[in-house]
Amino acid sequence: MDRVWNFSAGPAALPQAVLARAQRELLDWDGSGASVMEQSHRSKRFIAMAAQAEADLRELLAVPDDYAVLFLQGGATQHFAQIPINLAGEGDSADYIVNGHWGEKAAGEAAPYVRVNLAASSKADSYLRLPPRADWLLDPRAAYVHYTPNETIHGVEYREVPEVGEVPLVADMSSNILSEPLDVSRFGLIYAGAQKNIGPSGLVLMIVRRDLLQRAGRPMARIMRYAEHAAADSMLNTPNTWGWYLAGLTFQWLKAQGGMAAMAARNQAKAELLYRAIDGSASYYRNPVDPPARSRMNVPFTLHDAALDADFLKESETAGLLALKGHKALGGMRASLYNAVPLEAVQALTAFMADFAKRHG
Ligand SMILES: *Cc1c(COP(=O)(O)O)cnc(C)c1O
Repeated sequence: MDRVWNFSAGPAALPQAVLARAQRELLDWDGSGASVMEQSHRSKRFIAMAAQAEADLRELLAVPDDYAVLFLQGGATQHFAQIPINLAGEGDSADYIVNGHWGEKAAGEAAPYVRVNLAASSKADSYLRLPPRADWLLDPRAAYVHYTPNETIHGVEYREVPEVGEVPLVADMSSNILSEPLDVSRFGLIYAGAQKNIGPSGLVLMIVRRDLLQRAGRPMARIMRYAEHAAADSMLNTPNTWGWYLAGLTFQWLKAQGGMAAMAARNQAKAELLYRAIDGSASYYRNPVDPPARSRMNVPFTLHDAALDADFLKESETAGLLALKGHKALGGMRASLYNAVPLEAVQALTAFMADFAKRHG
């Protein structure tokens, strides 16, 4: 079996060059005669690799010095709960913008630890549009404002960073981090599960303004406290060494591709090609999202007749197009177009879609 074009929403495609390098280095990493997975995270070799990964990430996103970069575990979901514990004190409230499934989850997991103020929601619109910034009911005394710039299931994306004044802006960027240049200084805290656009699952990347680390005042275990992780260079306990290594390879690959500006252009071209194919299909295929809110990363679409879904999935798989089945909450199809998905994959998908429509009229 050859490599397929992989449109998985997550865990998602990794750059083939990254996988090939990991394969080459699997038995003998860095001349050590052992795999990176088989050695101490306290070894000189590992520490050097880990520091290089952080440096490359800092270079890619031009992360300012007053921000810490953390390599954590627990998935984005654990941090839905851990963020309020670290950023809010007893009795504080935090503003949540809910524009899809993950934002709703984030607010739910935070609720035991902070008074959640639902400052804006597009649930009544079935998350097909974004609550405009002008409609957000923000509380200037909130501990932070949390939002999800790209909603992976609903396929909506904020293309501009909202202005929220002095209150720290917290963003779950699990499915759009590293897809375009980012002004980190606009945020208090950015976090992302790695398995969409960085590496394997089990690793969480966090970029956090250092002064916010001092907020965590209430009693908590050390392992919960981001300041402890920062002080220990994310090696408070054994990190996900394999994930960290693969993330580092991905960062090197991104730099070799031309960095964030090059990725932004590529991601824009991929998304435009697919949306054009959907919109130009005379409603054979449909994407229901309000056009200005459409995600570049995750493109849900339906066929005009759901009875054709099973054939579409079967034939697309035979054509080497993997994981197009939509999330169970929405049905239909979804194509995820993360960094590791090349333009050729989208060209193959749109050609297949046109051919399928012709054959199944
Ligand atoms: C996938 C995803 C999550 C969940 O990540 P886990 O690592 O499974 O906890 C959270 N937020 C967004 C935006 C996601 O895409």
